[in-house]
Amino acid sequence: MNKKTIKDIDIKGKRVFIRVDFNVPIKNGAITDDTRIRGALPTIRYAIDEGARVILASHLGRPLKDKKKAEEKGTPYDPAKYRLKPVAEKLAEYLGKAVGFADDCVGAEVEAEVAGLADGDVLLLENLRLHADEEKNGEDFCRQLAALADVYVNDAFGTAHRAHASTEGITKFVQPAVAGLLMEKELNFLGKALNDPERPFVAILGGAKVSDKIPVIESLIERKVDKLLIGGAMAYTFFKANGYTVGKSLVEDEMMPKALEIEEKAKAAGVELILPTDHQVVDSYDPLHSRKTIPVEFTNTGLIGLDIGTETIEIFKRALEGAKTIVWNGPMGMFEEKPFDEGTVAIARAVADATDAGAVSIVGGGDSVAAVNQSGLDDKISHISTGGGATLEFLAGDVLPGVAALNDK
Ligand code: AMP
Repeated sequence: MNKKTIKDIDIKGKRVFIRVDFNVPIKNGAITDDTRIRGALPTIRYAIDEGARVILASHLGRPLKDKKKAEEKGTPYDPAKYRLKPVAEKLAEYLGKAVGFADDCVGAEVEAEVAGLADGDVLLLENLRLHADEEKNGEDFCRQLAALADVYVNDAFGTAHRAHASTEGITKFVQPAVAGLLMEKELNFLGKALNDPERPFVAILGGAKVSDKIPVIESLIERKVDKLLIGGAMAYTFFKANGYTVGKSLVEDEMMPKALEIEEKAKAAGVELILPTDHQVVDSYDPLHSRKTIPVEFTNTGLIGLDIGTETIEIFKRALEGAKTIVWNGPMGMFEEKPFDEGTVAIARAVADATDAGAVSIVGGGDSVAAVNQSGLDDKISHISTGGGATLEFLAGDVLPGVAALNDK
């Protein structure tokens, strides 16, 4: 990690603007999963203990885009879903102290509230994305955010791949700009896996679309990951490109040449690319009762593959044995629809077992993280990344604008 962190600078009595990721699911005014709030606590507690005046800012959903969509479709739009007030209340519980809440994130009233903060006080600003200029990185908005602060801290790894006002633009107007402790942890784990992994290094990729994951796959092959396991609907593009019948399984036809190219590159680099040998299929999405497990080559034109099969689970498990670094992103099947979560859950367990046996494991992406959490295996994984897209872009070797904007050590 070559970026300065909040521990490298003096923050006592300073107005410290911390960009956090409080993008939590809220249903009927209640937070249904507060993992992200808990993730931000170490940085917030550190800032309070050091006597900083803590200003917290986050996005929550996509209020403007959702509002526009609702207006176009004539469907209801619920503004309460995009308000951070419930987060302030939850945060106050965790911190055991009052957390102020500002009704906006910029403007004279917010500036007055910030001016009223004493050392160790905490103020949460309203959803940044209620302003279109947040995502547009509008200069005026950046200046307004910067006017609230003496110091900028980015602890929101999950949005660091976006050059938004609160992740990038603001740093042009307030310095120093440093990483928070969660951001530091993400960069340490992912940076080590990318640049100096203990071997054998095994990557597992899944999910619906190959196209989203091409840059990561290529980067992992270039870095000579030892084994690359591919599950989920992604695998069908590889199968079809190799002349298999895949029935009505999800395929990206235009990606077939790329899939063959990837196979060639893996071979040339000595990377073992492992695809499923069997899968769980149904003969229609509705009803899903026709489920059976068959070898991949027995698939006929009427079938839909929705999860990896039992033999594949065993093969993937064996591939993980003895691994020293594991990176996993993306589900092995249609995870949301039971029982097609079985493959993903089995892989979660296999990754946890390999971690017990000495591997450093990193899991990222909504569905894979959900599988780990639902199986109660979260404390068995070395690092659960808070980023989906950001994790993939980092592993693809891209520079994340929100990280590049921070001061070097
Ligand atoms: P991604 O956003 O590309 O990581 O893909 C995640 C989605 O892939 C999830 O919603 C899964 O339901 C879906 N998925 C994974 N495997 C399959 C499959 N075999 N058939 C249909 N959907 C799948």
